Amino acid sequence: MKPPPFEYHAPTTLDEACSLLASLEEAKVLAGGQSLIPLLNFRLARPRHLLDINRVAGLDRIYERDGGIAVEALGRQAAVEDSDLVARVCPLLGEAVRLVAHRVIRNRGTVCGSLAHADPASELPAVLLALGGHVIAQSARGKRTIAADQLFRGVFETALETDEMVVEAWFPASPQPFAILEESRRHGDFALAGVVRADTRLALFGVGSTPVLADRSDATRGLQPSGDLEATPDFRLHLVRVLTEKAFAA
Ligand SMILES: Cc1cc2nc3c(=O)[nH]c(=O)nc-3n(C[C@H](O)[C@H](O)[C@H](O)COP(=O)(O)OP(=O)(O)OC[C@H]3O[C@@H](n4cnc5c(N)ncnc54)[C@H](O)[C@@H]3O)c2cc1C
Repeated sequence: MKPPPFEYHAPTTLDEACSLLASLEEAKVLAGGQSLIPLLNFRLARPRHLLDINRVAGLDRIYERDGGIAVEALGRQAAVEDSDLVARVCPLLGEAVRLVAHRVIRNRGTVCGSLAHADPASELPAVLLALGGHVIAQSARGKRTIAADQLFRGVFETALETDEMVVEAWFPASPQPFAILEESRRHGDFALAGVVRADTRLALFGVGSTPVLADRSDATRGLQPSGDLEATPDFRLHLVRVLTEKAFAA
């Protein structure tokens, strides 16, 4: 299918992007387009305005900040994958990003876009949560920091206001030991369920409406995963138990 009609905007500065977001109704930021474009084509999203941020200069840095890794809004997943800095400071992030889809998708897909999209089966939101990272949201009103445990509110739902965009994600350095393990039907598919271990902290993905922090000794307590053609709720719970055991045995 073709996308529904929308008005296209391509700001070249962050200030311009923020003032457009403040003034336009029903606008969506377009970053890598790897989730948004399919949603438009299936007509599951019908924004009146698309705000393509790809021409905003100087928004693609991946750099060390406060002992962790900061990834700006146009920091591509593939660039994070290839980064020696990420491999040294936050190898958990480097490993996690390799599990996201396929390289061609990661060439365009952004880390901040994945966090803003908040797919409950995504790896990067769970990594941000396990590490206790945050995002910086910017609007014409200013900047604010949103901690990972405040960011994810539901399926494809975050604490971002409609006039805000994520300008940076910050991942603390990975503690040792760490692990990210998931099970999917085919390489590159979204995970049926997955776990992220950051020392004693454990975050789960694919088993609820958001990524969740869990207790290693009783990882599935309170979980009510949904079932679909790919996996029953019980199978997802089973995967969480097995993957948690493996992550802590590693
Ligand atoms: C075949 C396929 C397989 C995939 N498999 C996986 C997988 O296994 N794991 C996984 O995690 N993902 C997977 N993805 C999704 C992919 O990782 C996307 O790149 C990612 O979810 C979104 O990043 P993006 O930059 O492409 O965002 P876009 O598609 O441009 O945007 C996605 C959403 O986030 C919003 N957004 C984007 N950037 C910002 C920002 N800076 N501030 C505010 N809002 C913003 C957009 O408005 C939109 O609502 C897959 C995609 C495909 C097509």
